[in-house]
Amino acid sequence: MVVTFLAAGLYFFVSQNVAHTLIFIICAVGVDADHLFDYVRYIHQSKSKATILGFLSGKYFHLSNRLFVLLHSWELSLIGLWLYFTGIGAVYLPIALGLATHYLVDSMTNDVGFLSYFFSVRVAHQFKLNKIVNNVPDRFDNIIHL
Ligand SMILES: [Zn+2]
Repeated sequence: MVVTFLAAGLYFFVSQNVAHTLIFIICAVGVDADHLFDYVRYIHQSKSKATILGFLSGKYFHLSNRLFVLLHSWELSLIGLWLYFTGIGAVYLPIALGLATHYLVDSMTNDVGFLSYFFSVRVAHQFKLNKIVNNVPDRFDNIIHL
């Protein structure tokens, strides 16, 4: 979170644009909302009870052996940069950079491997966590995958 706000401060310092800085922050922080899709899918398929702690734990990624996190995709940031540099809209720069900041921080703090943040890599591995992520703990190997 500190890195995100430092990056947002740097973005504001360079752009002098409050609205775009807010968009940067919303994208950098709000992208984790996509975990909800993975959690709801897990709850639906496992018939488990939904709890806030269950959601926050992130164990459902391992229990379902799936990693969708659809907004955690470098492709989105690259598309945003392309839209910005082709002149389609200045608003795509803070979106692209906010997303990129989140992906970089996630990549450094989660032991899941840089490539797992590419949608195309997750698709190629059929969203199977144990195929995408570097170090899936052994204790999850015997779990029935959904
Ligand atoms: Zn994230």
